[in-house]
Amino acid sequence: MSESKFNQPLGGNQMPRFGGPATMFRLPSSEISDDLDVGIIGIPLDIGASNRSGTRYGPRDIRAESVLVRPYGMYTKAAPFDSFQVADIGDVPINTFNLLDSIDIIESHYDAVMEKNIKPVTLGGDHTISLPILRALYKKHGKMALVHIDAHADINDNMFGEKIAHGTIFRRAIEEGLVDPHKMVQIGQRATGYSSRDFQWAIDRGVRVVQAEECWLKSLTPLMAEVRELIGTDTPTYLTFDIDGIDPAFAPGTGTPEPAGLTSPQALEIVRGMYGTNLIGADLVEVSPAYDTSGNTSLLAANIVFEMLCSLPGCVRRD
Ligand code: MN
Ligand code: MN
Repeated sequence: MSESKFNQPLGGNQMPRFGGPATMFRLPSSEISDDLDVGIIGIPLDIGASNRSGTRYGPRDIRAESVLVRPYGMYTKAAPFDSFQVADIGDVPINTFNLLDSIDIIESHYDAVMEKNIKPVTLGGDHTISLPILRALYKKHGKMALVHIDAHADINDNMFGEKIAHGTIFRRAIEEGLVDPHKMVQIGQRATGYSSRDFQWAIDRGVRVVQAEECWLKSLTPLMAEVRELIGTDTPTYLTFDIDGIDPAFAPGTGTPEPAGLTSPQALEIVRGMYGTNLIGADLVEVSPAYDTSGNTSLLAANIVFEMLCSLPGCVRRD
């Protein structure tokens, strides 16, 4: 047992892993409170998705599969629950009948989280949720660096005429000045587009785009050293991880799958490679459990979220 003064995940020898409350990592649930360093938040939204639906069930399913995640990283030796006061602060009560209203509800919710100086680590939800999160974080941190893992660039000008949907958000984030495109990296984009220049709008604004083909069959640890060099150690940095960045062989439970994506080890290399940046928050989006018959997508998502905690500045490493 840890002697830590911080919340600890309920151990597998205290309560069987298949029992007890289904909070993230079996942590205590909490209100939004000054006592917390990090808050895990679910956003059960899927009305911004363009193909298969179902990410409204993502937070619940990722929490359920997170029961198998233990407190220490066995390779990195990272010990997030000895480093920060972390709790599951529940879900955002979105209006599932109205996307634009939901966007405002999410932003207000994160305003309250920011007011308490809690670092948000979010379980999606479709990718639309990242825009109101970035809007709220901008008010506290100013213009941010952004690392974005995704099969898609999510820089459409509109979808069916709508300016806000899960495929438009990073265009909006750049247009609104929330993120610095010269400190923005997109990783994993691939497959087919509406034109051969679908990724160009971001590149023209200074974004570094690392397509999936550039990642195939190699370690991404060297890439992440370049990413850290680009971002620097002080710039407030947000990490947004669309699970469809990973190959559907590993993560089939998602709404817009594209073949030949990143591997699970590469996903861990990317998130671990964020350690050393000034990471101020992160999200894991687009898990759609109905297409995840084995639970492997949510299990991988839960492990990625664990790695996000391990990459927050100040997370200690044990011997
Ligand atoms: Mn996306
Ligand atoms: Mn995507």
